Amino acid sequence: MPTVKIAFDLPLNRLFDYEAPQATEDDIGRRVLAPFGTGEKTGVIMGVGHPPEVPSHQLRAISTLWRDLPPLSHDDLRLLRFCSDYYHHPLGAVVLNALPPALRKKTPWSPPRRRKPLPEVPVEAAPALNSAQQEAIDAVLSRVGHFDAYLLFGITGSGKTEVYLQLIRALVSQGFQALILTPEINLTPQLEMRFRQRLHGVPLVCMHSALGEKERAVRWLAAQNGEAAVVLGTRSTVFCPMPKLGLIVVDEEHDTSYKQQEGLRYSARDVALVRAQQRQVPILLGTATPALETWWNAESGKYRLLTLPQRAIAGATLPRMQLIEFPGGGASREISGPVTEAIRQRLERHEQSLIFINRRGFAPVLFCSQCHWLSGCPHCAAKMVVHLRAKQLRCHHCGGTQPIPDRCPDCGNTHLDLLGAGTQKVEEELRQDFPEAHILRLDRDTLSRQDAWRDTLASIQSGEVDILIGTQLLAKGHDFPNITLVAALGVDGALYASDFRSGERLFSQMVQVGGRAGRGLQSGEVLIQTAFPQHPLFAALRVQDYPRFAELALAERQLTMFPPFTYLAMLRAASENTLQLEHFMAQAAGAARRLADGVEIYDPVPATLARVAGKVRWQLLVQSTHRQSLQAFLKAWQPYLQAMVPSRVQWTIDVDPTEL
Ligand code: ADP
Ligand code: ZN
Ligand code: ZN
Repeated sequence: MPTVKIAFDLPLNRLFDYEAPQATEDDIGRRVLAPFGTGEKTGVIMGVGHPPEVPSHQLRAISTLWRDLPPLSHDDLRLLRFCSDYYHHPLGAVVLNALPPALRKKTPWSPPRRRKPLPEVPVEAAPALNSAQQEAIDAVLSRVGHFDAYLLFGITGSGKTEVYLQLIRALVSQGFQALILTPEINLTPQLEMRFRQRLHGVPLVCMHSALGEKERAVRWLAAQNGEAAVVLGTRSTVFCPMPKLGLIVVDEEHDTSYKQQEGLRYSARDVALVRAQQRQVPILLGTATPALETWWNAESGKYRLLTLPQRAIAGATLPRMQLIEFPGGGASREISGPVTEAIRQRLERHEQSLIFINRRGFAPVLFCSQCHWLSGCPHCAAKMVVHLRAKQLRCHHCGGTQPIPDRCPDCGNTHLDLLGAGTQKVEEELRQDFPEAHILRLDRDTLSRQDAWRDTLASIQSGEVDILIGTQLLAKGHDFPNITLVAALGVDGALYASDFRSGERLFSQMVQVGGRAGRGLQSGEVLIQTAFPQHPLFAALRVQDYPRFAELALAERQLTMFPPFTYLAMLRAASENTLQLEHFMAQAAGAARRLADGVEIYDPVPATLARVAGKVRWQLLVQSTHRQSLQAFLKAWQPYLQAMVPSRVQWTIDVDPTEL
């Protein structure tokens, strides 16, 4: 009697044996319905005919084997197996979550009866390429059918998208499929439109989370059966089956939204690289501000660097970036005189201003506004973070603690400030200063919900809004010709944050702001308010010199032993029971120290956001100079964690974490 091994979406890293009289090797990757406990579950066949792990009299038979759709291919399963191994996440959960929700149901697939017709789009002709673009395209085309990673490095408007488009055209005409990943959902419709205009007659599907379940499955199936020559989509599209894959493009490869922060904590960029390697296809990573890991790989020759040095449209210039020195912290106002004045001028000229408040990726550190002392950790290169509740400074890197000093250790100033706190008052100040102005606040919700975004877009474009305030940037790629001023506030927290990546993020955000402001009007101006105008990051930023920034930042990373010179993983745990949690973390650290071989184990520390939804969160960092050692350690560590976890603690391992 043939038996099969089935993957289910469970928090257990194992497969389950069943009897399946009808199953053959060709059914590997197919969906089944099988009895599980007292009910039934949908699963995927991972193997046929292997000896079962349970005695044969205990084997149950599957209920249904669905053969209505093609199975996941060996290539698809190979990628999912890699993800399960590398990210230490149960294989079943990885496999089932790679299916569109409509195919995870306990019912057979039924296609929708009617679908919305595609919008008519005008045909657009391709511009003649400049020589840098042509070189980039030739380089990739000469390596079709081989794995090579390319970094396409060029500022906004340098013609990267044009390179993607012409490469895709060439490959599609050779019968290949192309996978294009894009970070942001609100950017997708616009990119889709541009692709449709330029790739007339090429079947293209666009995948993102805002689609209805049926529609999503229809598009996924079109990719799987090879009908869709181009698949364009956000993060999870990296798993979309594509039998004739010939090219992968990751646009804005540095974007943090490629990292999933729950469940399978994968980086879509990294998974795309693995996929390209497994499938032996070229992959193109495009950006104006590469992730430092990517830049390092290009510098060390692992990736090939392709540079687009200029803006593609003649005459387009970069906006002016200016630093406004503002002591911050102790000052009673959040907005400096020059910034207020610049906004006033825009109001008089009926132009728009964008106030960007940087609030991401850092916890407050202690700062003396008189002598610029910062609460550095005496044991390592990180800054210590203020924990007001515990009246302590804590290092989130090594776990060291100190009481909060009542005066500056260097100059004796008794008024110490929290760097990175306090931008809450900005909106209030603006409303007081400009009571007549129409002020609009953008939040995460506005930027991620398509309908809310459309309304916002309309009110910006009609000129109804005078001042926009946001903690995130406006979507890239949109033209707002009437925004002539961008003021960035609260950036200092990122210069000296406990998270080693925050400087890199700040640089890329500021370049992005600049890219935007320069698109429409030539008179675009970017003002950056800071207490540290001498900081080397700004010297590189003012001239938008990424390589210079990268050189500085890499030297620092090397000195402090952070990625890309080391590899990290983070044990994250949460519970509403603090005692259980602390006990678990201490035990986890103990086990880790016994197992560690070529791996450094830090002390458990409370997470930057120490309390979320009533749960306390702790984390523990492990680090190694070798990826293999880290992986071997994580594999050995997991059974211990599983064995000692108390009932009320949830934990997960975050490999290559992007938020510390
Ligand atoms: P990026 O993706 O780097 O931001 P795009 O590919 O969107 O740049 O190009 C920016 C603008 O320049 C677009 O309007 C595009 O149509 C135009 N463009 C790109 N390449 C050329 C070219 N070789 N000649 C003329 N215009 C170009
Ligand atoms: Zn001081
Ligand atoms: Zn430390």
